[in-house]
Amino acid sequence: MSRYSILIDVTKCNGCYNCFLACRDEYYGNDYLPYSAAQPLNDNFWLKMKEIERGTYPKPKLSYIPTPCMNCETAPCIDAAKNGAVYRREDGIVIIDPEKAKGQERIVNACPYRVIYWNEEKQIPQKCTFCAHRLDEGVKLPRCVESCPTGAMVFGDLDDPQSEIAQLTVKLSVEDYHPEFETKPLVKYVGIPKRFVAGEVVFRGQEGECAPGVSVKLSGGDLDLETVTDLFGDFEFEGLESYGSYKVTVSADGYESKDIEIKMFKDVNLGEIVLEPR
Ligand code: SF4
Ligand code: SF4
Repeated sequence: MSRYSILIDVTKCNGCYNCFLACRDEYYGNDYLPYSAAQPLNDNFWLKMKEIERGTYPKPKLSYIPTPCMNCETAPCIDAAKNGAVYRREDGIVIIDPEKAKGQERIVNACPYRVIYWNEEKQIPQKCTFCAHRLDEGVKLPRCVESCPTGAMVFGDLDDPQSEIAQLTVKLSVEDYHPEFETKPLVKYVGIPKRFVAGEVVFRGQEGECAPGVSVKLSGGDLDLETVTDLFGDFEFEGLESYGSYKVTVSADGYESKDIEIKMFKDVNLGEIVLEPR
């Protein structure tokens, strides 16, 4: 037995869309029966790219979360299908049978990740197959993984302790995307973006000038973090929880230190923080 998975490191994804395009190239107009019928030209994105914008100008961030079928171990799409139209292979890959699933639009709505697409012309639900046809032919990687120039995607067998993916999932702090769906996804992630606090420090009398090397501390919850402003007086704390309360303390020799209380429900840009001379 094996459990094929993809480990996706969001921090390494630069949003080049190579994986997305490779998937389109593999499946548009090509049948790989019995696993998949050809993908139509429009509105099918079996490797969906989720773009997440965070923060506001002048401290915006854009992150990308490649989202294939998660091959959930508790898969609502399997439960929603009639006639065994959706099934799991012995290697963990969940397949929608293009013949048996004909007319079963309900399968589309069963997926909480919204990665099943309706093929209007063929009247079938369709999704990522982890390139099962390639794996059967002995090709080692799905097209998306093969196409990634940054190594953001690692494919392999979670049940093989010698595999790179199994070792990485032990070594790294991996997480599920949307664990609240409770579907036990086999696809794992590193670095799913959390909230951040950013700001810029200046000294009174030198407004508009940068204050580099200033100590900035953030405390709250289990966190006690410290950084210093960069050459432009900017600082940033990443990886914060969405609904925490935090205190930011900015201090520099010869200046009054400043405390700022924050209630997080979105990314926070504190803007310009002016330190007064003592
Ligand atoms: S991600 Fe959606 S389509 Fe894939 S196995 Fe889970 S429920 Fe089914
Ligand atoms: S190919 Fe790699 S770097 Fe490019 S979008 Fe896909 S996962 Fe990100």
